[in-house]
Amino acid sequence: MKGNFIGGAWVAGARALPNVNPSDTRDLIDHYAQADAAQARHAVDAAAQALPAWSATSPQQRFDVLDQVGGELLARREALGDLLAREEGKTLPEAIGEVVRAGQVFKFFAGEALRLSGESLASVRPGVTVDITREPIGVVALITPWNFPIAIPAWKIAPALAFGNTVVFKPAELVPGSAWALAEILSRSGLPAGAFNLLMGRGAEVGPALVDDPRVAGLSFTGSTATGRSLAQACAARGAKFQLEMGGKNPLVVLDDADLELATHCAVQGAFFSTGQRCTASSRLIVTQGVHDRFVDRLVTRLRSLTVGDARSPGTDLGPVVDERQLDTDLGHIRDAQAQGARLAFGGQPMARDARGHPGFYLQPALFTETDNTMRISREEVFGPVANVIRVRDYDEALAVANDTPFGLSSGVCTTSLKHASHFKRHAQAGMVMVNLPTAGVDYHVPFGGRKASSMGAREQGRYAAEFFTAVKTSYTFA
Ligand code: ADP
Repeated sequence: MKGNFIGGAWVAGARALPNVNPSDTRDLIDHYAQADAAQARHAVDAAAQALPAWSATSPQQRFDVLDQVGGELLARREALGDLLAREEGKTLPEAIGEVVRAGQVFKFFAGEALRLSGESLASVRPGVTVDITREPIGVVALITPWNFPIAIPAWKIAPALAFGNTVVFKPAELVPGSAWALAEILSRSGLPAGAFNLLMGRGAEVGPALVDDPRVAGLSFTGSTATGRSLAQACAARGAKFQLEMGGKNPLVVLDDADLELATHCAVQGAFFSTGQRCTASSRLIVTQGVHDRFVDRLVTRLRSLTVGDARSPGTDLGPVVDERQLDTDLGHIRDAQAQGARLAFGGQPMARDARGHPGFYLQPALFTETDNTMRISREEVFGPVANVIRVRDYDEALAVANDTPFGLSSGVCTTSLKHASHFKRHAQAGMVMVNLPTAGVDYHVPFGGRKASSMGAREQGRYAAEFFTAVKTSYTFA
């Protein structure tokens, strides 16, 4: 049984939850602590007590901690990637890549601790100077989803600590293993007791204890739009800061003049890799009529060649869906799309076992054609290996359809036309725009985030992360 980490000590939870491998449901990884509301309050107590000491540390001390954590993540990428693939179901290369990303994020924010700066200006009043500085906001609650079990925690925990805040980290119930492993590394990094706390538990149970606690100054959340919005209301009601990353229904536009080989690669990578379980997944493929049939043919040929199987088996392209509930959700969307008249051009069949006979939550990637942008499959996020092709007349209609969505995270276009690429970059209603690249797959030193129902609050990552994790102070001195 793996415990929570609160106030510098490993502690049992009120209950324990088994962590099961979605590639092989006979494989039990371990049991992990589940906190109740009282334990959540203890975690906030610990973070509040640690705040004066941690917020007063020098940038060098923060650099040393974060740099060490980043170094260990990079050094142990294989073993941590194996654990991540085993509990979440993305393929081993993807999982190792994610651990590397987490290491890079810690290294980046180690440097940011040193680089945090302000401004000094002359006042409009004679003899007065104005200093603009940034301070920690205080205790922050970090709530994360299951689809990036180590990278998303890293890109919240690292800036939170870099800028002097103390942390209560609540990972998703389905992926406690990666969270625990990261906490274990942090527990040996030289942080004072209570500066970082791991609180595994059910969101509905421990969440309110975190977001309603007046000592929690800010919430950084990644997850569903419904949960995010209700947490934002709770934070707003008591004046706490919040930052939300939520769903997506990301378009990939393929124009008649696109390099079809590249467009097919972008679609397969963006829509189906990581089993489509990415908020940046290219779930709507918007294709102009001149190239539509050829693009669909190529895509189906490529999908036929993909191997769905155990996340850790060599040769697997797509791992399983994360759990039975998500598989049921995916299958429900597939059934609805068919009922609404979409044509299933490929896949969509659940498979109880992979080629090696491992029992898991396998699903063949599903591609729909003959869809329009009003169908449920075009409106709602599936969060699975499911995409639909929407045929459009021309670029203008493609852009209009791309923007006609409640979401606005990532938006892509495949084209060889500079005119269309430039116009799309300006007019796509999304936080991130990709030209001749998959909608998923981002850098770590630049801002990440969306518009509309996809995001609220300041951007994450890169130096923009300081917007959320610091408070600006303007000081006037007459001397
Ligand atoms: P998903 O559908 O991806 O699981 P959720 O929004 O339900 O999305 O979950 C994302 C994270 O939010 C998880 O860590 C989950 O435990 C947490 N969560 C869920 N419900 C609540 C809640 N009411 N309060 C706080 N956190 C919650």
